[in-house]
Amino acid sequence: MPEPGAYNPREVAVQQLRQAGARIEMDDDILQKLSHPKRIMQVSIPTKMDNGSLNVFTGYRVQHNMDRGPAKGGIRYHPDVSMDEVIALAMWMTWKCAVVNIPYGGAKGGVICNPKEMSQDELERMTRRFTSELIGFIGPNVDIPAPDVYTNPQVMAWILDTYSMNQGYLTPAVVTGKPVEIGGSLGRNEATGRGCAIVTREALKTMDIDISGARVAVQGFGNAGSVAAKVLQGMGAIVIAVSDSRGGIYSEQGIAVEAAVQHKAETGTVVDFERCDQITNEELLALDCDVLVPAALENTITEDNADAVKAKVIAEAANGPTTPDAQAILDGKGVFVVPDILANAGGVTVSYFEWVQGGQMYFWSEDEVNERLESIMVNSYYEVRAEAKRGNLNMRDAAFNVAVGRVAKAVELRGIYP
Ligand code: NAD
Repeated sequence: MPEPGAYNPREVAVQQLRQAGARIEMDDDILQKLSHPKRIMQVSIPTKMDNGSLNVFTGYRVQHNMDRGPAKGGIRYHPDVSMDEVIALAMWMTWKCAVVNIPYGGAKGGVICNPKEMSQDELERMTRRFTSELIGFIGPNVDIPAPDVYTNPQVMAWILDTYSMNQGYLTPAVVTGKPVEIGGSLGRNEATGRGCAIVTREALKTMDIDISGARVAVQGFGNAGSVAAKVLQGMGAIVIAVSDSRGGIYSEQGIAVEAAVQHKAETGTVVDFERCDQITNEELLALDCDVLVPAALENTITEDNADAVKAKVIAEAANGPTTPDAQAILDGKGVFVVPDILANAGGVTVSYFEWVQGGQMYFWSEDEVNERLESIMVNSYYEVRAEAKRGNLNMRDAAFNVAVGRVAKAVELRGIYP
């Protein structure tokens, strides 16, 4: 649950929709429909723990909208998962799929648990039971889960297997972000970070900043953040700081990203990585740099710390890292924010490629995947940029205009059933 006084992500998400609706003069009936998720599921997940005791976890799956295609969205395992958070994330998925114009609606799922304190066997039993509870409501044409915070390809493999065993045949297109050996796509694991790096590169062009030598700080060194750091480094940027939940590291000369990934894999954290100074997450957010990539959780850049941000570009690899008040402060300071629904859409874009490949059992090369990702991210960036210029808007409002407009059009054309 959000801290007292903190933003409730669901309220933020509905507010964002209302504001976009007003800007694009959306029909009120359509606004009402889109303000409500299509389907909300809460399930109990009784799970045998290794010591023989039983733990009943609570899980959620929310399908916000399916007017443009099956619902799509990750599953998060985290102690702070809440229904409101999952609803907000499902809505953001709807806009994210629309902003990059792929034929999906939005969904999200989560289980309240602490995976860091669970064994692999416990995680497997919990995942399989969660999948069983949802079995009638997921599927390649209905709702397709993917990894999110603290879930990974192995978790997707368990979901795939549970679903496939119930079908009686392998159904690879039921999840994305699964291992390549069982129908995953080459490039999927890196797609969110790569997509984020691509739009960051374009944002730096917009701001007339040379990417070569641009100083980058990444908060949250998981899948999205570490790959964004690696790809940006490959594009010539200098990664001066990264962090995870246990703290951050800083090096004026630049951090060897691959080696830091290795260090985190071995020790569980980036803290104490060689030849770096230790910094806190708060200090990282206020570093003097060109690009800040928040890649952890929601509500990271708030009205309390936005004024201290010195980055010229923020590329939101995480979902919902900037609160509305913080966005207003950043706008006032001239910080160019590439919003989450665009900046981290690379993940769902390659998930879409994975689903297409799995449906046809015809698999593409990694270069093919990356080329198509590049093309979708660049086109989407400039579509949003054009809308920003047209309406004199920041990139977040422009992205919402584009995305909400597309979904509203689909609802209008289909009409309200019956
Ligand atoms: P992950 O579990 O791989 O990594 C999360 C990282 O954040 C970890 O390194 C963790 O230590 C760190 N972290 C957690 N709490 C933190 C805190 N308070 N301060 C600093 N660091 C903290 O997760 P991920 O898949 O990389 O997801 C990160 C963000 O990106 C989430 O907001 C997620 O919704 C978003 N996202 C992920 C994908 C994807 O494909 N993985 C796609 C779109 C969006």
